[in-house]
Amino acid sequence: MTRYLPALCAALLMLAVSFATTGAAFAQGGPAAAPTSAVDVHPLPPAADPASSFDVEKATNAYLARVSGEARKKSDSYFEGGYWLLLWDALYAIVVSAILLFTRFSSRMRKIAEGITRSRFLQAPIYILQYIVVTTVLTLPMSIFEDYLREHEYGMSNQNLMQWFGDFGIIFVVNLVVFTLIGTIVYAAIRRTKQYWWVWGAAITIVFLVIGAAVAPVFISPLLNRYQPLHEGTLKQNILSLARSEGIPVDNVYEFDASRQTKRMSANVSGMFGTTRISMNDNLIKRGSDREILAVLGHEMGHYVLGHVTTGITMFGIVIVIAFGFAAWGFGALTSVFGGIWDVRSVDDPAGLPVLMALVTFFFLIATPVTNTITRSQEAQADIFGVNAARQPDGFAEAALHLSEYRKLEPSPLEEFVFYDHPSGRNRIHMMMVWKKQHLNDADIKAGPVSPQ
Ligand SMILES: [Zn+2]
Repeated sequence: MTRYLPALCAALLMLAVSFATTGAAFAQGGPAAAPTSAVDVHPLPPAADPASSFDVEKATNAYLARVSGEARKKSDSYFEGGYWLLLWDALYAIVVSAILLFTRFSSRMRKIAEGITRSRFLQAPIYILQYIVVTTVLTLPMSIFEDYLREHEYGMSNQNLMQWFGDFGIIFVVNLVVFTLIGTIVYAAIRRTKQYWWVWGAAITIVFLVIGAAVAPVFISPLLNRYQPLHEGTLKQNILSLARSEGIPVDNVYEFDASRQTKRMSANVSGMFGTTRISMNDNLIKRGSDREILAVLGHEMGHYVLGHVTTGITMFGIVIVIAFGFAAWGFGALTSVFGGIWDVRSVDDPAGLPVLMALVTFFFLIATPVTNTITRSQEAQADIFGVNAARQPDGFAEAALHLSEYRKLEPSPLEEFVFYDHPSGRNRIHMMMVWKKQHLNDADIKAGPVSPQ
């Protein structure tokens, strides 16, 4: 559910609504996770090492072989289709911008704003409101195809069209409010700061990102799903015990009814400044084994302990500054050629918004490997943290297989670098099996399932 507005808006909303992403995770094992002992990694001569019979590659391949045939084909084709959607979404958004500019529809929307008020401050939001309504309507066919039809084609969705439109409407209203507010302030900054407006524009956007990250779990997410404390029981006790042993000051874990929308399993950590929380969706609870759930939660706790919401915003902040700089440069270059045809005067003219949006969309398309690598590195860190905390390598491998329903298991290294915002299933399972080999002599691992079968 992302493409309701051109790429930037979607990216910002996603980031704000739930930063640290969908679950990956680990397996069960003893509850409260003893810290990994350094003794485990003392090398023994192969023959003397009882672990030597455990073959990392074989164990990895045995897991991967569990998803084969039609299931493998389906998830590969679903995920690879996503590569093309990135391109089509961006092209579509750029074409929409071009249409608004070359037909002078954009300059007409500005004239409507000028007709309503002489205040330049208020002309910006009046233009932006029209812009969001028009672009939402123009990109609606793409949204329906991508987020409704395609999800149904692959059996991923639990919604009928009415329910889907209900969520679409809620997100539209949130977008309308949030982006009108951000845009109005950015245009005020542009008028005041002239040449270096893009620095201020980026700074304002980042501030809103932080506010969004803090506010979203409390005010936005509950608009789409019902959040409630996870039901009492051994699982919850094990999760809270794991959290306490990692020094995480949470006294609750939340579950939300993602099955309202989708069949996907996921969990996330979201929020900032006291609103930080760990949530898991009901698909994970229903379909995952206890050790799998604990593994996933160990991973999510990794995001929390490693401060990924903060570092993520910092790193994305740098990308956003560059994006604004690129947009400022591109705006000058394009309007010096087409400004007359478009009737777009200068960068403080709201009618130039489609130019800026097209440039930013293009920038984020090109920057896909960079933004994916930022999140993928954090995910890999959380994977390692999680298995050391939860000590559930097999549970995590099982989770990786579950996630393969919508994520290609074995991409090429280049594919993974460009398109993956999480490590691939193969890499995750391999990492878990490497970890397991190092811990085979630990009592809890010895007692657990040694072979993936
Ligand atoms: Zn994660």
